[in-house]
Amino acid sequence: MSASVFFPLDKQQVVGVIGGGQLGRMLVLAARRMGVRSVVWTGGLEAPAVEVADEVIDLPFDSAEALEQFCKLATVATVEFENIPRATLEGVKKRIAIFPSPEAVGICQNREREKNFLKQHGIPCTWFRVIETLTDLQAAMAELNGPGVLKTADFGYDGKGQLKIQGNEDPAAVWKQFGEQRAVLEKWVPFEKEISVMVVRSANGEVRTYDPAENRHRNHVLDVSIVPARISETTAAQAREIAEKVAVALDYQGIMGVEFFVNHDGSLVVNEMAPRPHNSGHHTLDACATSQFEQQLRVALQLPLGTTRLVSPCVMLNLLADFWQDETTPPDWTPLLETDGAVLHLYGKRRAPGMRKMGHATLLGNDTNEILKQVEKLAAGWLK
Ligand code: AMP
Repeated sequence: MSASVFFPLDKQQVVGVIGGGQLGRMLVLAARRMGVRSVVWTGGLEAPAVEVADEVIDLPFDSAEALEQFCKLATVATVEFENIPRATLEGVKKRIAIFPSPEAVGICQNREREKNFLKQHGIPCTWFRVIETLTDLQAAMAELNGPGVLKTADFGYDGKGQLKIQGNEDPAAVWKQFGEQRAVLEKWVPFEKEISVMVVRSANGEVRTYDPAENRHRNHVLDVSIVPARISETTAAQAREIAEKVAVALDYQGIMGVEFFVNHDGSLVVNEMAPRPHNSGHHTLDACATSQFEQQLRVALQLPLGTTRLVSPCVMLNLLADFWQDETTPPDWTPLLETDGAVLHLYGKRRAPGMRKMGHATLLGNDTNEILKQVEKLAAGWLK
């Protein structure tokens, strides 16, 4: 390899991370491992990335002062969650390079733009209609004539801002219950399973995908990811191909998660995209040579992409707050720590309310069904 490839690591790079959550924390830790300094722009000092970052800016994401500070400290920027004001992303882009681009984040942060984008590019997605008024909802419900889900156009994640409908309700009552907000009505997909593909694309257009993960949820929050997903080779290849197509169509630069529903006949529809590292890619820290976080840094620092090869089958278990004995007392980790091939990651969060993501564990093994049994046993021991 020529020396020039490593030029970006010769000078002191400072990666600026917008957002202070666990994804930011894991990005910063990956940066440290590569000798790269970091500055985290967070909305609150309790955020998980704060205690591992070199520098922290704790100001709102629309603060002009924070924008100036951030761009002075960072040599390159990235985002760890998508709900950052577009003007902030554009402001950063005027001063330093940002990966992914504000345009790509702007499409993925809004369901209406995201669905229209998929449709325009001929990428399979669920039937949907944009709803601005009660009249729109009446027309869309009549057209759908069956079960669906109403989702807010903006700022939705983990099932928030969603209302499931059977199709026979009074549209006026549904509209009122939903708070009369701009929305997308989607057809309910009776899927067989949910999968996701992490895809990384470099600034010069090289694209690589990771093996699809099979995702199971608990109360709308990701519970386990099984990798590789238990799907046919054809479906896996199609999912990787579609994820690649999405990344190319977005002219995406960085790591992205593409979530799919798998129909009973093996066909696929895209549910949504996450323009950042994704919870269903956490296993890449322990089960792949290059993690999703390192890939993000490699793109931002214009280094060669790393391998996406899965070194070991695995199951990732999210350690949600309902495993905690109370808001401040974690469960007994001994059974996990005694399990061969188990890796524990905790995000340093001090309080464990509701279904908060407190950490995750990756269990490596030879056979995903066997690992899943171990994971289910561990989880059953922690759930009250
Ligand atoms: P989302 O926030 O859009 O990812 O939705 C959260 C979860 O709700 C998904 O992971 C699915 O389990 C479920 N879901 C969302 N949209 C649909 C749909 N159109 N059909 C069936 N299930 C859905």
